[in-house]
Amino acid sequence: MIRWLKKFINLILPPRCLICGKIIENDNALCPECFNHITFITKPYCLHCGRPLSFTNLDKDLCCPKCLTKKDSVFYLSRSAIEYDEYSKKLILDFKFSDHLENRYLLTQWLIFAGKDIFDTHPDIILPVPLHYSRLFQRKYNQSAILVRELSKKTHIPAYYNILKKCRYTKPQVICNGKQRRKNIKDAFIITNPDFVKNKNIILVDDVYTTGSTLKECAKVLKKCGAKNISTLTVARVIE
Ligand SMILES: [Zn+2]
Ligand SMILES: [Zn+2]
Repeated sequence: MIRWLKKFINLILPPRCLICGKIIENDNALCPECFNHITFITKPYCLHCGRPLSFTNLDKDLCCPKCLTKKDSVFYLSRSAIEYDEYSKKLILDFKFSDHLENRYLLTQWLIFAGKDIFDTHPDIILPVPLHYSRLFQRKYNQSAILVRELSKKTHIPAYYNILKKCRYTKPQVICNGKQRRKNIKDAFIITNPDFVKNKNIILVDDVYTTGSTLKECAKVLKKCGAKNISTLTVARVIE
């Protein structure tokens, strides 16, 4: 009966590619052309920060030059599923600003795939990068929290939505350069209940990793409250 009903609904409202809108066979997916345009971040990548690497010596512990020189990174591991580029942009921006919440199913699938190394470290909790309440009011939802909800359902790792809070309104990071981004976001987050993060392995989730300023600032306050390891999991990463 349910299968029959699904066929009937598909006839009236056929599944469409989440990027170009072309009719496709399955729900919440991409057409083959759009899928081929997406650049997935696969090995070899830096085992620490997840940046794609251009060489293929897979026998060694791979590390990018930045991580080799700067060993005291605030993050334990960082992973992103895809590169943020002209093709993946629509998928992310539609999800973030245009109420295309149905994109969450595909994006969460990709997060689970990309986060394998992080899940193997037995994280205790997942936290979304929060929005300031006034921005939340404008946008109606926090895209990172939506992803975390799906991720927590699939991985059974508990998620908390009110422990890490944004206490200061900031300009959108997208209009700032690297240095301005760090300044703009400085001291913008607080932890409402330090007992929940103390000695915990934490996954911080966001949609895009650009310079990492926002994630680093979140990690900084979490560390101050005694968090053990903080890993970041993002759908897309800006590759310089
Ligand atoms: Zn398409
Ligand atoms: Zn690295």
